[in-house]
Amino acid sequence: MGGSDDRRNVKATPDAGVEAEATAKHQPAEDEELNRKLSHIKHKILVLSGKGGVGKSSVAAGLAVDLAKRGKRVAVLDIDIHGPSIPRLLGVEGERVVGTGGSIHPVVSSTGVGVMSMGLLLQGRDEAVIWRGPLKYGVIKQFLRDVEWGDLDYLIVDSPPGTGDEPLSVAQLIKGVDGALIVTTPQALSTNDVRRSIGFSRQLHLPILGVIENMSGFVCPSCGTKVDVFGSGGGASMAEDMGVPFLGSIPIDPELVKACDAGSLGPFLAGGTPGATAFAAAVAKLIANIEGGSNKEAEMHSEPTARQAGAAPDPSTASTQAGEGRKIAVPVTGGKLSAHFGHCEEFVIFSPKETSGGTAVEAEVVEVLEAPPHQPGLLPAWLNERGVNMVIAGGMGSRAQELFSQAGVEVMVGAASTDPKEIVQSYLDGTLVAGQNVCDH
Ligand code: ADP
Repeated sequence: MGGSDDRRNVKATPDAGVEAEATAKHQPAEDEELNRKLSHIKHKILVLSGKGGVGKSSVAAGLAVDLAKRGKRVAVLDIDIHGPSIPRLLGVEGERVVGTGGSIHPVVSSTGVGVMSMGLLLQGRDEAVIWRGPLKYGVIKQFLRDVEWGDLDYLIVDSPPGTGDEPLSVAQLIKGVDGALIVTTPQALSTNDVRRSIGFSRQLHLPILGVIENMSGFVCPSCGTKVDVFGSGGGASMAEDMGVPFLGSIPIDPELVKACDAGSLGPFLAGGTPGATAFAAAVAKLIANIEGGSNKEAEMHSEPTARQAGAAPDPSTASTQAGEGRKIAVPVTGGKLSAHFGHCEEFVIFSPKETSGGTAVEAEVVEVLEAPPHQPGLLPAWLNERGVNMVIAGGMGSRAQELFSQAGVEVMVGAASTDPKEIVQSYLDGTLVAGQNVCDH
C-alpha cells in the first residue's frame, strides 16, 4: 500500500450514499470489474447468525486470523454497516482507509489480515449510518468492486445478524460464494433464528459450510470441569435435524473477551485455553471441508430434490432417509391425505423411530400443525422454519415443487394411499407406490 499524491481519505458522506444508490442499477461494465476482482479470490465465506451477540464477528475475525497463521492470504469485509466491530476485533480501529487512483485499499492488521469496514470510513465510533436497502446494496457493491483486494485465498464476509439486505446483497453480488458459516449459541437455539438463517441460505442456494455453537458451557479455570450453563448438545442435534454440518462448540472463555477487546486474537488462538482449543478445532474442520471439497451441503444442493414417489430411493442417502431427526410432513384434510396440497387443514409431521432393537423403522407422529391461511409461495419457508425436511403429497404443481427445492425441502409427489401413516411407513420401507400428480394448485 504505497502512498501517492492523489492518496486521499475516503469518508462516509451522504454523497457516498447517493453514489451508492446509482451503482445499485445494472451496469454491465461495472459488473465485469466486480467479477474480475472477485476472480482473484479463491474462497468466499459469508458468516451469518440469526441474532446479535452470539459471537459471529468474533468467529469471523478469529477464522481470518487462524487462516492467516496458516499462511493463507486473507481479508475480512465487514458489511455490518450499522454496528461494525471487525476493526476493533482485528486491532485496526481508528486507522483510516486510503484511496489511490480511484481504488481504495484495505487496512492491513498486524496479523496480515486485510480489513474493509464501514467502521474505517466513519469519522467517529458513535456515528450512526441510516441507509435504506438499495443504498446498502450499492455500498456493498462498491466495497467488493472498488477495493483493491489483490490475490486472496479467503475473503471472509461478516454480516449483521439476521436475514436482511446485507447478506442478501452479498449472495446476489458474489457469484460462487463457497457458502455460509452460521454461528449460534445454546440460548439462541431455543428461538427459530438459526433455522431461519439456514432457510434463508437455502433459498439463496448458499451451501451451508457448517454451524458453530458458541458460548457453549463454561470450563472452570481451577478444576477444568465443564458446566453447561444453558444445556448442551442442542447445536449438534439441530444441525443433524436440518442436515447441515456441525463444526463444534466453543465454550465461554474470558480470555476471548479480553482478546476481542484488545484486538489480539492471534495470541488468544495460540494460548491453549479451552476456548482457543475448541475454536481451532472448529476452524480446522471448516477448512478441511472447504479445501478437501467434502461439503455436504454443496452436494445436497447441486441437484433438485423433488422426485416422483415410487422411484427407488438412492441407497447412498438411505440412512439419512431413515435417520432420526428427519421430519416428514403430509398434508391432511379430514384425517386423509389432502388432494389439494395448498388448501389442506393440517400437516401431520412424522419422524422415523427405530423399533425392535434397531432392526426396524416405524413412522411416528411427532406433531400436527394447523395449516396457515392459504397464501401462494408461503408453505416452503413456513414448513422449513418448523424443521420439516421432506413433504410427501398426493399432488403438487411444478412451481410449488421448485419453491420447496429452493427451500431445501425434499418433495415426493403422487402418493396413492390416503392414510398418512401408511404413506410415510411405505416410504420408509422403500415400497411407496407412485400415483398421479393430479394437483396443479
Ligand atoms: P455478534 O457479532 O454475534 O454480535 P460479537 O462477536 O460481537 O457478537 O461478540 C459479542 C461479545 O461476546 C463480545 O464481547 C465477545 O468478546 C464475546 N464473546 C464471543 N464469543 C465468546 C466466547 N466464546 N466466550 C466469551 N465471550 C465471547
